[in-house]
Amino acid sequence: MTLPGEWEMVVGLEVHTELKTATKMFCGCANQFGSEPNTNICPVCLGLPGSLPVLNERAVELAMAIGVALHCRIASSTFHRKNYFYPDMPKDFQITQYDLPINSGGYLDLPDGSHVSIERAHLEEDTGKSTHLGGTGRIHGADRSLVDYNRSGVPLVEIVSAPDIRSSAHARAYAAELRGILIATGASDGRMEEGSMRIDANVSVRKPNAPFGTRCEIKNLNSLRSLHRAIDYEALRQIDVIEDGGTIRQETRHWDEIFGETSTMRTKEEAEDYRYFREPDLVDLDPNQAWQDRVRNGLPPMPAERRQKLTARLSEPSQAQLEAVEVVIDLGLENFVNAAIDAGVEPALAVARAANELAAGIEMTPNLAPEAFSATVLMEQGGALSATQSKTVLGELLASGGDPKSIAKAKGFEQLSSDSLGSTVAELIEQNPDEWARYREGDEKLAQFFIGQVMKLTKGQANGKAVIAELQARR
Ligand code: ADP
Ligand code: MG
Ligand code: ZN
Repeated sequence: MTLPGEWEMVVGLEVHTELKTATKMFCGCANQFGSEPNTNICPVCLGLPGSLPVLNERAVELAMAIGVALHCRIASSTFHRKNYFYPDMPKDFQITQYDLPINSGGYLDLPDGSHVSIERAHLEEDTGKSTHLGGTGRIHGADRSLVDYNRSGVPLVEIVSAPDIRSSAHARAYAAELRGILIATGASDGRMEEGSMRIDANVSVRKPNAPFGTRCEIKNLNSLRSLHRAIDYEALRQIDVIEDGGTIRQETRHWDEIFGETSTMRTKEEAEDYRYFREPDLVDLDPNQAWQDRVRNGLPPMPAERRQKLTARLSEPSQAQLEAVEVVIDLGLENFVNAAIDAGVEPALAVARAANELAAGIEMTPNLAPEAFSATVLMEQGGALSATQSKTVLGELLASGGDPKSIAKAKGFEQLSSDSLGSTVAELIEQNPDEWARYREGDEKLAQFFIGQVMKLTKGQANGKAVIAELQARR
């Protein structure tokens, strides 16, 4: 969306990601989504008096992995208490990092070539989860609330971007790339629908080159689609207010997915409202160089590098092919594509089938062996299967596994093997001597005639390219 009247939006995102540890941040309770409410709890994560936190080593490792992947400086850091009252936070404070975060000063490069700076990526604990009943789902107007403390104390990393983002599409691309990185590091499963990645969007508007305007922070966006919609709505709202002669108050706003609008939650709280002070029950966190190096050396390649590698296998890729490569990397399908290319499939065809057919059945890819994918697409490339048939076979393989040749045969696709295509073409040549003579003399248009005849005989199942190959071979 472009904003009216030369307005420009300025966006900075705070992304909270739950870390994929076995246990919580400061206790041994399971870190597990979807358990019966209030079953993964203990005195520590319930904040009972006298309980003491013990820092989870794996959480620190995953936080460092995020820091490395985002090119941050990893430093000695401390924990603070952020004090406030909310029923889903039984201690009445959240343990977080304040002025000395573990990771600071990094960046993220996006596929479009833009560069977003990262201010910090710090460790903190999650709160429990409230469910408000008898109203719209928000606390206002509800007649009772239920609290589940299973999430209380789950380790989080909060990744704060600089205000470098300039549109809702840009914000979405940043969040998608960051999600890919979080998954690649093993830090997160990236499941936004389960709340393991939640985004707060800070939005302001300004005229070109003017100083930044006052920002509003939209809380808890839990899909890329909501992020996109909420930012656009909020920027337009602010423009309306300013153009009507009003001023923007810095505040925290709620996004309503159904009404498609933001509304005031509370006016902005300042850092001093939280009475931050050092967490007295935890020592400084000072990961030594050897530990940092181990984390750095243990990291797999990040999406940007993987994208680059796969793109290099395509010669002069089109925009559509580049987008298909993005899908392949986002979904982690490059093992299929690489196996197919190694087996002799044209890279563009391998990428296209993965980005469409495999992407459409992504939850079923465990059924599909890379060899079966390669074999199917090779049959298509050689003309033994038409594109439509190839997609049908891939669909079947995804649904229930198996052997591509047997599936093609069972579906009656086998008459299109190159042998039978060859004999069909030979017969047509015999039956149409005039057309064949003209084709042999160089009238390429006649190829279309023969393709049309083959299609008729095979009810559209043949592959045009393969027919031309058969004609050429007999010319
Ligand atoms: P807070 O604790 O108030 O949320 P943080 O430092 O955690 O503050 O995050 C501030 C976020 O707001 C960052 O992502 C930053 O990029 C963004 N931001 C700061 N100023 C602006 C602005 N004028 N417009 C939009 N975003 C901004
Ligand atoms: Mg914040
Ligand atoms: Zn616990």
